[in-house]
Amino acid sequence: MIKAKVKAKESAKPVANSKIEKAKKTESKPAKKETAKAKIEYAEPAKPKAKHKEINPDVTIEERLKALFNLQQIDTAIDKIRIVRGELPLEVQDLEDEIIGLETRVKNYTDEVNVFEDTIVQKKQQMKDSLSLIKKYEEQQNKVRNNREFDSLTKEIEFQNLEIQLSEKRIKEAKANIAAKNEFVEKVQAELDERKSDLKHKKAELDDIIKETEKEEKSLMKQSGKAEEIMDERLLTAYKRLRTNARNGLAVVTVSRDACGGCFNNIPPQRQMDIRMRKKIIVCEYCGRILVDQELAGVEELVEA
Ligand SMILES: [Zn+2]
Repeated sequence: MIKAKVKAKESAKPVANSKIEKAKKTESKPAKKETAKAKIEYAEPAKPKAKHKEINPDVTIEERLKALFNLQQIDTAIDKIRIVRGELPLEVQDLEDEIIGLETRVKNYTDEVNVFEDTIVQKKQQMKDSLSLIKKYEEQQNKVRNNREFDSLTKEIEFQNLEIQLSEKRIKEAKANIAAKNEFVEKVQAELDERKSDLKHKKAELDDIIKETEKEEKSLMKQSGKAEEIMDERLLTAYKRLRTNARNGLAVVTVSRDACGGCFNNIPPQRQMDIRMRKKIIVCEYCGRILVDQELAGVEELVEA
């Protein structure tokens, strides 16, 4: 599951980009297909498990509730690891896309500068040609036999002088364009360097996190599997369904300040008492989450007046 997520960029482009911050920088990037929130897959034990026991009468409801709460804690820890890691491959992908975009811009600018430079070379050559023509015409003027020939050469010289002026103008324009383009290139290049350095760090971070969390995740998965063994099939199925449906992956919550810790709707005092008795598995009547009291959860309940 982890590998699949990380390698996603090699096969298909990740569709999602949940970073709001990123959205601001999208102008230079190819349009994103979607900006849907990155889907977080909640922990599921990887290995096929032995068939669960039917409800074991020796296991009390209280023990089951404790096991459920324990399982929830472990699964939440796994979720957290996946959330942290889940964003990074996308961030790396975004940076890579951005870098490609910036590199293309630099290349385009460089190509344009090259065209202007070619123009300068070409116009300089034309000026040289014009100057040598002028020289030739002036020499010819010394050998003319009549005024008509002289005037015709004068006109040619004037024309070449105009050509020189025109070339000078074109060179000046090209130089101005090159200067402007170079300024752009410099800016884009600076941005590019920054992104490349960001990418290097993100990639290192991603590698570290993968290395670190893989171990932790495996150990948590093992614990999760053990905690599941205590439970009967029906309860486990209910727990998993709740987790899938709950946006934050919480299927088991505590009663906190007289309210459900999942949806924050109020729980009547009688129901709270029943929860504290631990004789029945009680679910929130609004969101359906399994409710446990704070003492069972190991949280110090404030003494009520
Ligand atoms: Zn609720």
